[in-house]
Amino acid sequence: MLDDTHKFLEAAAERLGLPDDTLQKLKQADAEHIFDIELSNGQTFKAYRVQHNNARGPYKGGIRYHPHVNLDEVRTLATLMSLKTAAAGLPLGGGKGGIAVDPRELNQKLLEELSRKYVVALHEHIGPDKDIPAPDVNTDSTIIDWMVDEYEKLTGDSSHASFTGKSIERGGSLGRDAATGRGGVLALEELLSASKAGAKGLTVAIQGFGNVGSYFGTVMQERHKDWLLVAASDSEAAVYSGKGLDAKMLQKFKTDRGRFKDYESNEIQILNNDNLLALDVDVLVLAGFEETVTQKNVDTIKAKYVVEMANGPVTKQAHDLLHKRGHVILPDIIANAGGVIVSYLEWVQNKQNESWSTDKVNHELAAYMSKAVRQTYEEAKRGKISLKDAAFTVALRSLLE
Ligand code: NAD
Repeated sequence: MLDDTHKFLEAAAERLGLPDDTLQKLKQADAEHIFDIELSNGQTFKAYRVQHNNARGPYKGGIRYHPHVNLDEVRTLATLMSLKTAAAGLPLGGGKGGIAVDPRELNQKLLEELSRKYVVALHEHIGPDKDIPAPDVNTDSTIIDWMVDEYEKLTGDSSHASFTGKSIERGGSLGRDAATGRGGVLALEELLSASKAGAKGLTVAIQGFGNVGSYFGTVMQERHKDWLLVAASDSEAAVYSGKGLDAKMLQKFKTDRGRFKDYESNEIQILNNDNLLALDVDVLVLAGFEETVTQKNVDTIKAKYVVEMANGPVTKQAHDLLHKRGHVILPDIIANAGGVIVSYLEWVQNKQNESWSTDKVNHELAAYMSKAVRQTYEEAKRGKISLKDAAFTVALRSLLE
């Protein structure tokens, strides 16, 4: 994925006539913090914070807890954050963190100790005007609240602006939970409108019905009564109905820890994830993990629109093939920027000691998203390039400026 990200970056650099030494500099992170965290029970975990680029503002990016977290992954995601904040027009840079841990194997007390020790190790390098971490896969507002508390104890800062993704009581923003999914729907709407494509009666399949995927589904159904959600999946199975699924019901089923393979209904068929990816739908939403569509399964993709809600779910090779065949890929650094846009709005509220209504947050989100999609669409049209190449070009130009 790091190679793929660099290839997109190289192509954008070539379009902008960037000297090689500047490109090489952009491939490197400003700083990489790599350390071990030892818990009171003797267990040790590898931890990371990569600060990629702060030319546009403080480093910004989530902290992931997952057994597969490694330096290359954190580097890639940090690089994507710098490009995402630039493409979205936010005055922020890019960073990412992570701990190689399976949080389900720790009890609540050890999870809190781990989270607090992460901040102890990093507190001199982060802060409201230096680097503002947020939640990512397997981290949530409870973990972030512990981190903010630890940071404030260590530094005396009381602005709550050192982290985003906090609980509402600790200064979190309304609208944050749904922001990434909502942003994806808004981005798709804007793209359909910019390209004057028909937006009536679209059929949609969502791979990865977690936080991002489920809010994509519910927000889409709130805003488009005539769009039909025909399939949704988790890591094990997909539910399918040609008559349409109710995203709110599926969201509740998943929140109650249901597994789609156990879903019982006469109206619904159970498919596997490969079947879901190959469905003949208008829109395929990829909201699971990295590298879902690769050279191996790209020939099965039929959807006209592929929305990259996860980071890097379509490999570079698969992207190039799909683009050549006329599929439209709404790129990750735009499609999933809703989360960081509302994180930015949370930080602004903290800095100004304000709490905005959900409507105000959603209104601001829509404005940022609309501008980012329009800019990317125009760049793609001008350069006769894919939206992904265009988004990288727009982002790189902003970074350089
Ligand atoms: P999540 O853990 O809530 O949901 C992920 C979902 O994908 C789960 O339902 C899981 O069962 C499913 N899944 C995992 N592997 C799968 C597979 N191989 N096939 C099908 N489904 C699979 O995570 P999330 O917060 O929704 O994030 C999803 C993706 O979006 C991640 O790549 C994340 O980095 C990215 N992202 C998230 C945010 C955010 O605000 N949460 C912002 C930007 C990008």
